[in-house]
Amino acid sequence: MLPRSYSCTGCKEEFNFKFREACYYFGGDSLGGSVRDADLFNMPVRPAWCKDCGGICIAEDIAPLRAFEAAYGAARTGKPIEYPIASECMTPDTVIPEAEAFLRWRMQRRRSARILCCGGVNFQFLDVAQPLFRHVECDFGVIEPSASHIGPYNSPGPGEYSPADILVCDGEGELLGLLTWRQRDQRTWSVAPMQYAWIDEE
Ligand SMILES: [Zn+2]
Ligand SMILES: [Zn+2]
Repeated sequence: MLPRSYSCTGCKEEFNFKFREACYYFGGDSLGGSVRDADLFNMPVRPAWCKDCGGICIAEDIAPLRAFEAAYGAARTGKPIEYPIASECMTPDTVIPEAEAFLRWRMQRRRSARILCCGGVNFQFLDVAQPLFRHVECDFGVIEPSASHIGPYNSPGPGEYSPADILVCDGEGELLGLLTWRQRDQRTWSVAPMQYAWIDEE
């Protein structure tokens, strides 16, 4: 779980996540204005500090290949898995194909993990105990979680009463768009095209 936000212990500057969730698009075609649920896979992410953008963002959490092999093996024998998918939140018939899709993806993935503000690799994960992360403008400040975890989610699901704001990337972590509205009946999402330049637009 991501902390709600981070803040600097020195200057009290607060850092918020613009986006908290992302997914991979594993469909073969280029992404159109609508995408099927079946082609979207939740991206494992961790909170990180981008040294190029000077802020926090989610970054891809890409474990070694053997973790994906182990997950696929466990899924096939009905054992619970937590990474790259959380089997306890899924129906059993979707666990094996999703674990297989992630394994196939991991075998093909070439780039190292990217942070999703700019797509760069000049970042540091924040969910580690050591070393403390120093705020560059401050003499003594360190950046740490400023609030407890977000409580349970009570709405009917993202994208139904308000836009979901979930980033969509291709298999190499290139940003393709933003999931906005969900069409539950058709099992599709509306998607707005988006590129890594989003951080400059503010
Ligand atoms: Zn500071
Ligand atoms: Zn960045």
